Amino acid sequence: MNLKPFIEAAAETILAHEAELTDLDRAIGDGDHGANMARGFRAVAAEADAIAALPFGEALRKAGTTLVMKVGGASGPLYGSALIAMGKAADAPPASTADAARLLDAAVEAIRQRGKSDVGAKTMLDVLAPVAAALRALPADPLAAVRAAADEGLAATGPMRATKGRAAFLGERSIGHLDPGARSSALLVHAVAGVLAGVKETS
Ligand code: ADP
Ligand code: MG
Repeated sequence: MNLKPFIEAAAETILAHEAELTDLDRAIGDGDHGANMARGFRAVAAEADAIAALPFGEALRKAGTTLVMKVGGASGPLYGSALIAMGKAADAPPASTADAARLLDAAVEAIRQRGKSDVGAKTMLDVLAPVAAALRALPADPLAAVRAAADEGLAATGPMRATKGRAAFLGERSIGHLDPGARSSALLVHAVAGVLAGVKETS
């Protein structure tokens, strides 16, 4: 995984929103958040090639150290310790959504500890903690989850008594048969999932 595009995308959005971050911090803080973040991410972007050449864990730690050094204010040590904790938590790029969730959990925990803070205190944790939870809730293999939902839904029609469609005329006698439309739906779902996975399915 090349980290350079991630660094560039992060720096680009921070620089594009510097004035907005400044305005938000002017309203309820001291008005330096835009400048702090811009200074930090400019510095990280300037080191993008050197950072991207490092092993994954070291790269995150170097980016974090740069933020700690360059960003004045609370946010530098907070984002910095988050990146350093992520770098300590993984020496290889996340290979699954579960891996990514573990990385973000480490970041959230680091910010909680460094900031002596938690969700509900009106901070960055109010974004990062629910994002970590959303990552944790993602299925490790989304296509497998889709296929399983189709198979379970189809199997569930077996013991059902039909109340719609022509099968409803059979009443109790519809029980014990799979519904034809449920089967065609399952076939279509498997076909689409197969194309998405790059494999032709026939079952
Ligand atoms: P400073 O508050 O020192 O001026 P910034 O303006 O750069 O630093 O960053 C302010 C942001 O940092 C806040 O909007 C909040 O999201 C976050 N923050 C500040 N203190 C804490 C803390 N103790 N825990 C978590 N996040 C915090
Ligand atoms: Mg501030």
